[in-house]
Amino acid sequence: MVEYVRGSDSDKWHWCKNCTQYPMYIYQKTSVEPPSDLCEQCKTKEDNRDCKM
Ligand SMILES: [Zn+2]
Repeated sequence: MVEYVRGSDSDKWHWCKNCTQYPMYIYQKTSVEPPSDLCEQCKTKEDNRDCKM
């Protein structure tokens, strides 16, 4: 199960723990894919199968 997290209201949604912008303090989380504001870096990692969840 993928968990999407963000560190603040204005943050993007991250789901790869190895993303350099993965929030240290989690402000919000959800297991439903958010419709917008997904992190580009997490997306790239997933495409490269380099995403650690
Ligand atoms: Zn990210």
